[in-house]
Amino acid sequence: MITAEALQQLVETHGTPLFVIDHDELRNNYATFKKYLPRVQAYYAVKANPDPAIVQTLFDAGASFDVASMPEFMVVYDIIKDMPENERQEWIWDKIVYANPVKANETLVELDRYKPLITFDNREEISKIKQYAPHSGLMLRLRVSNTGAMVELSSKFGAGPGEAVDLILEAVKEGLTVEGLSFHVGSQTTNFENFVQAINLAAHIFREARERGYDKMNLLDIGGGFPAPYDDSVKPFSELARKINAELERLFPPEIEILAEPGRFMVATAGTAVSTIIGKAVRDGKLCYYVDDGVYHTFSGIIFDHCQYHLESFKKGPTQICTVFGPTCDALDVISMAEELPYNLERGDLLYSRNIGAYSGASSTWFNGFPPAKVIHVNR
Ligand SMILES: *Cc1c(COP(=O)(O)O)cnc(C)c1O
Repeated sequence: MITAEALQQLVETHGTPLFVIDHDELRNNYATFKKYLPRVQAYYAVKANPDPAIVQTLFDAGASFDVASMPEFMVVYDIIKDMPENERQEWIWDKIVYANPVKANETLVELDRYKPLITFDNREEISKIKQYAPHSGLMLRLRVSNTGAMVELSSKFGAGPGEAVDLILEAVKEGLTVEGLSFHVGSQTTNFENFVQAINLAAHIFREARERGYDKMNLLDIGGGFPAPYDDSVKPFSELARKINAELERLFPPEIEILAEPGRFMVATAGTAVSTIIGKAVRDGKLCYYVDDGVYHTFSGIIFDHCQYHLESFKKGPTQICTVFGPTCDALDVISMAEELPYNLERGDLLYSRNIGAYSGASSTWFNGFPPAKVIHVNR
């Protein structure tokens, strides 16, 4: 973990707002994932933080990648493209899954050149893929329970259990190859039973497909949702891994390859935001600090990711409950209405927030003319 002293030194050189990415932490998170889920290949979900330096570090550590748009695909492809020509086909599947179940025609046309691994969850998509990307390998995305996840995804994606095998057989009838199944239990899933249930459902669909004559599925993609340790209420990753391993062992023979798409788990703890207090006021009796980063910028996860980050001060002193506002003129730009901070902070003092590496800078804007925070990579 990057120390408070190191953060302050970086500010002296680079100013604020600053978004610091610690690559040791990325490597640690990847190693932890691999240690506890040895059978599972991690396809880092690039949308959590698409910085090419992050992709490079995780690639060097052995990761593969989950992308959802052509620009994301190219960020990864540019890094992996020096692969040997003759291994390229396998490399693409080993290194990239295009896991957005709904793709534009033009995207499919572009993707088809790479003979990619892609997901689908509806009939319309089958005809699109047949027409525009017939060289793809397919995985059917299942709808699974997202109970207790911080961000649910099941209302937007996933084929219901009753239609799953029909869709697989239909794709096969159209001449496509269905390689396996995928699902997503919801982001920041602290209810580990979601994974257990979803793996059991997938096993059931594998069996039904076999019984109905299709036995060519050899991939199971258990998606993302692995929780970041934002606070003490998140149970250890080892506990989740133990449950997942037990179900995989019981239900899927070793020749079935297991993939996962962790996003948040890999990058959340690797990012720290540092901002400067630019103003101070008392409103309705409450102390308000105004800082130079906010919800249109590195703290965008407060809106889009339903995530609450905590702020700390380098300077110590007696505290009270304060409001912290971002720099824009929109009243939505509130980082926190209830942050315990020293009340003697002054203009120019710094606040920082740890565990903000996922779904943060990724959706930063230029709203009101304020640019995104400067990104600094450490321990690269
Ligand atoms: C967002 C997303 C992920 C990553 O989810 P995390 O909760 O960050 O692990 C993985 N797969 C798909 C298809 C996604 O949409």
